[in-house]
Amino acid sequence: MYAEILLDKPTRNFTQPLHYSIPAELSAELKIGQQVLVPFGRRLTFGYVVGFSETTPVILTKPINKITWDEPLFTEKEVILAKWLADYYDSFLITALKLTLPPGGIKDVARAGLPLKRKSKIKDALADFASSEQAAWLKLNNEQSSALEKIEAAIEAGENKKFLLFGVTGSGKTEVYLRASQKALDSGRTAIILVPEIGLTSQLVTRFCQHFSGRVALLHSDLTPKQRAHQWQRIATDQAKLILGARSAIFAPLKDLGLIIIDEEYEQTYKSEKNPRYHVREVAAKLAELNKAVVVLGSATPSIETYYAAEKGEYEKLNLPDRIDSRPLPPVTIVDMRHEKERVLSPLLREELKATFERHEQAILFINRRGFFTFIMCRDCGQTVECERCGVPLVYYQDEKILRCNHCGRGVPAPTSCSRCNAVAINYFGLGTQRIEQEVAELWPAVRILRYDRDSVTKRGDHTALLDTFAAGKADVLIGTQMVTKGMDVANVTLVGVVAADTALNLPEFRAAERTFQLLTQVAGRAGRHHLPGKVIIQTYNPNHYAIQTAAQHDYEAFYRQEIKHREELAYPPFTHLINIVLSGIVSSQVDNIANSLAQFLNKRLAPGQVLGPVPATFAKLRGSYRFQIMLKGRKVETIRQALKESLMRLVLPMTLKVTVDVDPISLL
Ligand code: ADP
Ligand code: ZN
Repeated sequence: MYAEILLDKPTRNFTQPLHYSIPAELSAELKIGQQVLVPFGRRLTFGYVVGFSETTPVILTKPINKITWDEPLFTEKEVILAKWLADYYDSFLITALKLTLPPGGIKDVARAGLPLKRKSKIKDALADFASSEQAAWLKLNNEQSSALEKIEAAIEAGENKKFLLFGVTGSGKTEVYLRASQKALDSGRTAIILVPEIGLTSQLVTRFCQHFSGRVALLHSDLTPKQRAHQWQRIATDQAKLILGARSAIFAPLKDLGLIIIDEEYEQTYKSEKNPRYHVREVAAKLAELNKAVVVLGSATPSIETYYAAEKGEYEKLNLPDRIDSRPLPPVTIVDMRHEKERVLSPLLREELKATFERHEQAILFINRRGFFTFIMCRDCGQTVECERCGVPLVYYQDEKILRCNHCGRGVPAPTSCSRCNAVAINYFGLGTQRIEQEVAELWPAVRILRYDRDSVTKRGDHTALLDTFAAGKADVLIGTQMVTKGMDVANVTLVGVVAADTALNLPEFRAAERTFQLLTQVAGRAGRHHLPGKVIIQTYNPNHYAIQTAAQHDYEAFYRQEIKHREELAYPPFTHLINIVLSGIVSSQVDNIANSLAQFLNKRLAPGQVLGPVPATFAKLRGSYRFQIMLKGRKVETIRQALKESLMRLVLPMTLKVTVDVDPISLL
């Protein structure tokens, strides 16, 4: 018998497990998931046991030196999952496997002072929540009940089944999630509930924590390493049966997994930006298959891929077509900004804001850009002011009176004259959150304003504090970027104004229309959620665009029918798979050359039209690196991935050049 050991430090030549012999004194104890010390070259190195085999092609195997951590750190199922991840997303196996290790590795587990398998003495913060179970709190309506029945039946039967809970904003999806989770627990199983960002959806978190009190583990990016290790520990020792978390919570060590819920599965935060660049929806599907578990995706605006999969029967669609108590969705008025003199707030939006403030109700103003002015140009020669390192327009920040790059964060003083023609005709254009803030403050000096964007919310806990302030009625208007479109359920919000609907529409991406529709629908869904009726105003320069028209009518299906036609015509997902390859380095000509050789190797292996590029990437220069991009397109992902693997092997890469591979990219920027 030989042990298959995966080395802790990946090297290009040793990415697969290596065979080691098992000394007699270890043979009884050695288990999959243990960390071991093995000889490698002339030294000892850490590795993990990922499997066993009867035979080996190696002539002289070396023996394992010792077991360094008794308690297995992962299971056989997690090895299968990691193998799938590494293969599908083209990453090292060890990098994929490490996703399932305690965050920070063994060190953090040790630092938290928590030997595995022993009950933690650390006071459970969540036990502070009222522990009274409130299961019989609300009576579900008919649609909720029939959706729940189907999910419950699948959990009960231990079926590997996938559902799409397609419900408008405010239709009561959270209540269905809650009871489905209860069902999983009642059946002796466990559940994972994923939310796009935990701070933004605090209402869902509060509901779950109240209902399940001490049995919930929260996993999100705001935890310190020690807190995270503690949560991980509670899961590993079966104290927590239910996990509420952001993307990476999918890898938490739950046993007997019965249910995975992904709220708002179309959100971009569900796609990892690090290797392996996984999409949590795909990982969930794989994990559910391994565990015979149920997957529920819930949204008012499913991704086009998911809705298409549901149409094909891959997901069973469960509809919640109406808001609770038949509250109407808010009427939407489109303001055609091409005919308006006012560039920021149209007369209609001003009038509605004023009326809202007079009624002591609250408003949300949404604009997808931070800063004050979003681009600066010389009126004489047309020269724009860009970040030297990133090549993107610099944004003017009024508070600090500086220009800043929203990519790398670098600030520079605002120029007094043009760098090209020396004219002093520097003009400022574009709308950002800060400019809206100033406009509102000038119009209504007494109005209490909260600004919510990545500049105003930077610290841990700020999100919740800011949303709590608004929910408590301590501000009249919330001005923010897409962070305001999520999850918020504030009864007194009766007006939502979209200051410029076009910013997302104009991005050079095939998903631009989908993004715009989702953003508008979500932000509109914040208005009039309770007894007070709501109103939405959308300002746009593209009033006839189908994404804006269908969003104004709250008509997802109409949007989907238009969008899926375009996708098919242009052979975009869900009809094809894409792989985006970005090559970056500090010498532009070198990156260009290598990108061209890679494209040549690829072209030999794939059909015409499957290899697009190389072209300079949308952000051709980022943080001082030059970037070139090649996109592969194919009906079968295996075919293009295999061609890429073979081509990359033939490529001689200088140390200074970086290649990133993104399978099924969500953003091409
Ligand atoms: P969604 O997640 O679909 O946007 P929520 O689950 O937040 O909707 O529900 C919207 C509101 O309706 C919440 O305040 C919730 O407590 C309430 N609600 C949900 N289901 C019911 C029900 N069956 N009866 C009464 N109120 C409900
Ligand atoms: Zn920059």
